[in-house]
Amino acid sequence: ASAAIGVTGLGVMGRNLARNFARHGYPVAVHNRTPARTRALIEEYGSEGDFVGAETAAEFVAALERPRRLMIMVQAGAATDAVIDEFVPLLEPGDIVIDGGNAHFADTRRREAALREKGLHFVGVGVSGGEEGALHGPSIMPGGSAESYAVLGPMFEDISAKVGGEPCATHVGADGAGHFVKMVHNGIEYADMQLIAEAYDLLRQVGGYAPAEIADVFREWNGGRLGSYLIEITADVLAHVDAATGAPFVDVVADAAGQKGTGRWTVQTALDLASPVTAIAQATFARAASGRRELRAAYAGLPGGTTPPLSATEADRFASRVEHALYASKVIAYDQGWTMIQDAAAEYGWKIDLGAVARIWRGGCIIRASFLDRIRAAYRADPDLVSLLAEEEFAREIADAQVPWRETVASAARRGIPVPAFSAALSHYDTLRADRLPAALLQGQRDYFGAHTYGRTDREGAFHTHWATEGRPETQG
Ligand code: NDP
Repeated sequence: ASAAIGVTGLGVMGRNLARNFARHGYPVAVHNRTPARTRALIEEYGSEGDFVGAETAAEFVAALERPRRLMIMVQAGAATDAVIDEFVPLLEPGDIVIDGGNAHFADTRRREAALREKGLHFVGVGVSGGEEGALHGPSIMPGGSAESYAVLGPMFEDISAKVGGEPCATHVGADGAGHFVKMVHNGIEYADMQLIAEAYDLLRQVGGYAPAEIADVFREWNGGRLGSYLIEITADVLAHVDAATGAPFVDVVADAAGQKGTGRWTVQTALDLASPVTAIAQATFARAASGRRELRAAYAGLPGGTTPPLSATEADRFASRVEHALYASKVIAYDQGWTMIQDAAAEYGWKIDLGAVARIWRGGCIIRASFLDRIRAAYRADPDLVSLLAEEEFAREIADAQVPWRETVASAARRGIPVPAFSAALSHYDTLRADRLPAALLQGQRDYFGAHTYGRTDREGAFHTHWATEGRPETQG
């Protein structure tokens, strides 16, 4: 037994994570259902470090130092369960089974409980950064026991991305907390991408800018508070010209967005937790709507707004408004994500350091951005911060964005340009800051048709009105 860690499942991610461990000096046992892949890995990359190739499960387990650290990198769902079932009988109490796939956090909770009964640690790990990140430094979000993190933490921190010398890995919380936080990361990613796409659409349709000009606008924004990996790659995509047609690349791509499902999981889970992640939800639905060819055909040709062209000066002024709108909406989308993490922490009893989540997303993952430093600082100053908007500087920025943010959404509405994420973010803001909400009327309606009772502003208790007889409010309980 000589390997510090074993990786089974040597697909795109598993292979690169194994190489990353080996490059950091960890002897790595490697195993794959199809052994040819194991041999190929050692043949091609064996010189990068200390690999121990294993053809069978028994050989693989025998190669691991105790407590054994066995990392599974296969498809989420049935494949992961199959691999766990295969290895568990070969392990001993104290061993650590790590799932680095994109598992649903509820599956991770179930697996953790089942393996805990056998005296094994089960650690669900969110890994972000794709193929390149896995090799050069991903953002790593481990759940599971603190005891298992004591063993795994230094290794994960070694192989993770680094920002300012700090690792993009931390113990997120117990059982499924790591996979949960990874899921929310992806939900935020959906919102961030949709907001950027809406900004592009507005600059193009209202501002009259060409894609290459919008690339320049994004490059400029990338130097400021919006600076991020997503803004940077957006500029590259917009500047790209299709070789076959000579047209802007963005104009030859079919406008039907794909999704692998983590955004959907975020929204489904948010409904269960009653977390109002409206910008994330709208971003997810926007992808779904884009792919509904028949529905879009049925709506096609219906009237929208008019789009009188802006003068060059007006267009520049408009672009700076859109920057405010994008930034303010982004703050709201991130705030929604953090609220959801707080809600889950309360529901599942996780102790999550909300500032540390911002810290480990500063590098290695898709939403990496300097902006996350600000979020981290906000939670450092007040670990119990209820919302980012309760922090002075974010509140001030949002206040400064008021007019341009509203103007941007209003121009979109007037001109018939869809901005579901911008609008959702603004409505979220207006909902939560409102003195009175029409929820009072909903309560009246509910009491009327279903005797659901209502609370009152002037007295404690639950009240019901006898609507048929127009009786006075009476206390019911
Ligand atoms: P690949 O499709 O490249 O590789 C899949 C691996 O799983 C192969 O090694 C395959 O073995 C193995 N496998 C599949 N089914 C079984 C089974 N029933 N029993 C044993 N082994 C099985 O996948 P990726 O590397 O892209 O993804 C792996 C995991 O990482 C997934 O959960 C994915 O969601 C997650 N992930 C992926 C990211 C990405 O950017 N690609 C980013 C972050 C996480 P064989 O060679 O025998 O077919």
